[in-house]
Amino acid sequence: MTITLPSTDGALQSDPRSYVGRFAPSPSGQLHFGSLVTALASYLEARSKKGTWLVRMEDIDEPRCINGMDIAILNTLEAHGLTWDGEIIYQSQQHHRYQDSVDSLLTHNNAYYCQCTRKQINAMGGRYSGQCRDKKLTADGADKAIRLPLTGNTPSFNDGVLGIVPEGESLEDIVIKRRDGLYSYNIVVVLDDDYQGVNHIVRGADLLPVTATQIALYRSLGLSVPHYSHIPVASVAPGRKLSKQNHAKPLDNSHAIENLHRAMTFLSLSPHQCQEYQGVDDLLKHAVSLWNMKKVPKTPEIIVDAQESTYHSQR
Ligand code: GLU
Repeated sequence: MTITLPSTDGALQSDPRSYVGRFAPSPSGQLHFGSLVTALASYLEARSKKGTWLVRMEDIDEPRCINGMDIAILNTLEAHGLTWDGEIIYQSQQHHRYQDSVDSLLTHNNAYYCQCTRKQINAMGGRYSGQCRDKKLTADGADKAIRLPLTGNTPSFNDGVLGIVPEGESLEDIVIKRRDGLYSYNIVVVLDDDYQGVNHIVRGADLLPVTATQIALYRSLGLSVPHYSHIPVASVAPGRKLSKQNHAKPLDNSHAIENLHRAMTFLSLSPHQCQEYQGVDDLLKHAVSLWNMKKVPKTPEIIVDAQESTYHSQR
């Protein structure tokens, strides 16, 4: 039996061999059909592996977050029977941890201050040349970004849905803390997943472009790299994922079974008719028994009709 103990501060102490997955929404809007697909896939994979499923609020980019959206998201997950394990961590409350990591990297010369402006980087052809690496700049004076040196090409990896994703272009030294003091998305995701013991990440293929950089970050920090599976995103047209901008309506919690039913179909599972389920728990139990990552369409996106996909959403 695997015992997973939530500690008081949200970090999980789990058997290193056990599966730990997560859903990491940004509270910048309510969940819509596309987010439900991602939540459901990561939930089903975790539950079918008898693993732990965490929820983390990615509110690091505070200006983009909307007050109360975290609660709305959690209510929607609960209404759809997607109950999580352990405590929810909020990135906005983790700054001390991020700063400790940044300080430690600076102390060990594994990160450096960079004073280059966007304009200067554009003049370098849009790719940062690494020119501040050996300048030994300090925090004094003008605001500076902090970068972590990365060498080589973006690594190849074996994705649970898409298979081998080949090596890409050469990596550039990555900003881990911006000039305005905000920690960058890539570093906090890596630090949080490591802190929470997440070893399997199931998320939308819209994040595929940042995965290789995150893997490079894990390696550079000496952390073990999780296994990744990128599921297709629901788009209204090629390259236009379902989002608030293209009128994706919030999920209507009073139609949870229909919403989950449609998400199962999207993931190539074959659910019974909606009326055959006693409730969301019954449906999810069936979904866990049907779940097979190998059946998920091996494509980064699936085009859905914006209206059709939100048919049961609030008007
Ligand atoms: N917070 C990200 C989003 O809502 C997801 C990040 C991740 O799954 O790694 O798109």
